[in-house]
Amino acid sequence: MLIKPDAIERNLIGRIISRVEETPLKILDMKKVFFSREMTEQFYGEHKEEEFYNRLINYMADKNVVALKLEGLDAIKILRRLVGATDPKKAEKNTIRADFGLGTPQNSVHASDSEKSAKREIDFFFGEKN
Ligand code: ADP
Ligand code: MG
Repeated sequence: MLIKPDAIERNLIGRIISRVEETPLKILDMKKVFFSREMTEQFYGEHKEEEFYNRLINYMADKNVVALKLEGLDAIKILRRLVGATDPKKAEKNTIRADFGLGTPQNSVHASDSEKSAKREIDFFFGEKN
């Protein structure tokens, strides 16, 4: 999971982490990372062809993000439910994005969408080369 710049700028790190801690998921590791443009482009490579790609990169690049390494049964499902729909206006009640998100791309958090992407993303932030 990533806490995105819009949430960090509004002092929401603690409140977002509290929401995670209200689930059965365990926080195995956590760090604040300066997300360079190069890292941002690599991280969001799968969205390169999307019309929103440039807006997304310009919003995220060269800012701090907080990365969390989470573990637990059904972690992907539990976290995606906690986070809510991509667009905060459409996100389900009491989700992180409904309560804190500003719009797209400023929707406060990123959550992996599959086991495969979770592995890749955990390695990206917490792998041996880091
Ligand atoms: P999610 O984060 O819910 O998995 P996507 O993987 O589809 O959503 O998109 C990645 C991120 O790109 C979103 O979290 C959001 O910040 C941004 N984004 C998605 N759709 C749009 C859009 N239509 N306009 C602007 N930004 C968008
Ligand atoms: Mg996604």
